[in-house]
Amino acid sequence: MNELFRAIPATDLCLDALTEADPELETAPRALLRELVATFWDDRRKDIRAGRCREAALLRLDAQLPALLAHARAGLRPRLRPVLNATGVVVHTNLGRSVLAREARQAVALAAGGYCNLELNLNTGGRGSRYELVEELICRLSGAEAALVVNNNAAAVLLMLDGFCKGGEVIVSRGELVEIGGSFRIPEVMEKSGAQLREVGATNRTHLRDYAAAINENTRALLRVHTSNYRIVGFHAAVSLPELAALARERDLPLFEDLGSGSFMDFSSCGLPNEPTVPSVLAGGADLVTFSGDKVLGGPQAGIIAGRREMVDALKRNPLTRALRCDKLCLAALEATLRLYLDPEQARQRIPTLRRICLRPEELNRRARALAARLRKALGQACAVSVRPDVSRVGGGAFPQYDLPTSLVCLKPARISATALKNALLDTDPPLLGRLEDDHFCLDPRTLESNEYPPLLRALQTALQAADTPHAP
Ligand SMILES: *Cc1c(COP(=O)(O)O)cnc(C)c1O
Repeated sequence: MNELFRAIPATDLCLDALTEADPELETAPRALLRELVATFWDDRRKDIRAGRCREAALLRLDAQLPALLAHARAGLRPRLRPVLNATGVVVHTNLGRSVLAREARQAVALAAGGYCNLELNLNTGGRGSRYELVEELICRLSGAEAALVVNNNAAAVLLMLDGFCKGGEVIVSRGELVEIGGSFRIPEVMEKSGAQLREVGATNRTHLRDYAAAINENTRALLRVHTSNYRIVGFHAAVSLPELAALARERDLPLFEDLGSGSFMDFSSCGLPNEPTVPSVLAGGADLVTFSGDKVLGGPQAGIIAGRREMVDALKRNPLTRALRCDKLCLAALEATLRLYLDPEQARQRIPTLRRICLRPEELNRRARALAARLRKALGQACAVSVRPDVSRVGGGAFPQYDLPTSLVCLKPARISATALKNALLDTDPPLLGRLEDDHFCLDPRTLESNEYPPLLRALQTALQAADTPHAP
């Protein structure tokens, strides 16, 4: 064993070999590279102790250089990296939700690369408010009197409850006590805001009389929460917005709605079911509505609060707002995205989230067949390629359980399992995410652009090769 340990080459020799093999490593922070070399050989020492490596020749630098290079490159890569989304889930929270429109990306680049009038009023030369930059646009698109943008929708809900319900009770239907992925739960946010949740009704049915009976002198608001990521079917009843708004007015209480995945666009124009839009919720009588910027709206991460002027103004003065504020990059992307909505047709064509949700099945089938043809050519015998009809999901807590018809490109590798291929594709650069469907690895063209096909082909080739030639320890 000592002989094996002695065979491990000196760090300086390794550093020289690495930079000779890949001159780009010259620019890497030296200390980091040195550390990566050390961790690589630590792993080999573990192999020796565990009896997984018994030959000194295998430990020679020339034998280990490819693995050492891969280890160094992987260790130097940024942790936040682009990935190819072939899952067909348009608003995929784990993959960063909405892809921004080109206009929004350009606005971000401008705001990031220089100074801007974030809090400067260019009319007076005095101090301006970041919150007013996009307010007028939101009001125009939603019919609201006023609006405020914060860090995300969870922050918007927290702020709204903190501002108007702290120390009192908020009435919510038991059918709407939502948990969103990533541990956002309405009852827990409420507790943090210092408001007390007053649940009414049953899981499947809540009636107007349930709300009415729960109102007491501690009640501060009625809250509706959009059941973003689930649907109650069967014996089910919920109170309509106008009915609840009438009750709130009668008892002189505000009515709030957490819409979650809010939009200014009516998706029924692309054949989707009727979901409430931001303008419809305000027209229906909600005093304030909150929604996310990066769900079906198709913009950056943000939480938007829109509604009554005096309420929004009070929230702007709330000290908590300062802690939840959004930055200039968010506001730049949001303004550019909202401007596209001024022309609904333009919004549908230019905002990737809207365009992808509205892609027609015939177009998706054409794209799937074209991609399949390219894959057959590039992958040859390594993989059988077929096209089959299936469904995609909007994701991000919008249109739960709703099937968007699509066509999948399905791969059946010749020598490895579909699961092994899926795992190998997490390791390619960029990683490629798809779907496992009865022992096939499937790609949904809905969430891919054609300029992503070349890296996608390379990722598949690399993964199939890597799976075929497992390297010796
Ligand atoms: C998504 C969602 C949230 C959380 O929004 P974030 O923007 O992720 O903070 C809150 N409420 C509902 C109903 C949602 O769908």
